[in-house]
Amino acid sequence: VHEKIVPALRCVERRIQKTCKDSDERYTARAVGGFRHDNSYRGGEVSNHLFGIAVDIDPDRNPCCGCVEPWPSHKLCKDTSKSIYEKTELPRCWINAFERYGFYWLGRDDLEDTMHFEFLGDPDRILP
Ligand SMILES: [Zn+2]
Repeated sequence: VHEKIVPALRCVERRIQKTCKDSDERYTARAVGGFRHDNSYRGGEVSNHLFGIAVDIDPDRNPCCGCVEPWPSHKLCKDTSKSIYEKTELPRCWINAFERYGFYWLGRDDLEDTMHFEFLGDPDRILP
């Protein structure tokens, strides 16, 4: 990721360690992706991964239900009546921790990209 968002990620990590302790809030991330060279197109938009300010956590466990196949066929996407929190293995406590420190969770978007968080704050205003 971009060095400027590292302090924000550290805050998220500390928050998770401090607050996500219940058995249903524990989660161990196995595969975390950040910076990418190639754009993942969504219309004409440029992915925030190109700027190193987006992270994806465990795509196999946190699907993007609104993306192209094979995502909508993921077992967690099948039941469209479910809430977005049931379409991801990420605990709500983790999502709250990211959002608290300026990361937007793309699970809230029409895309329902539950693996994806991007930093939308002003990195120059982060106090290390
Ligand atoms: Zn992503």
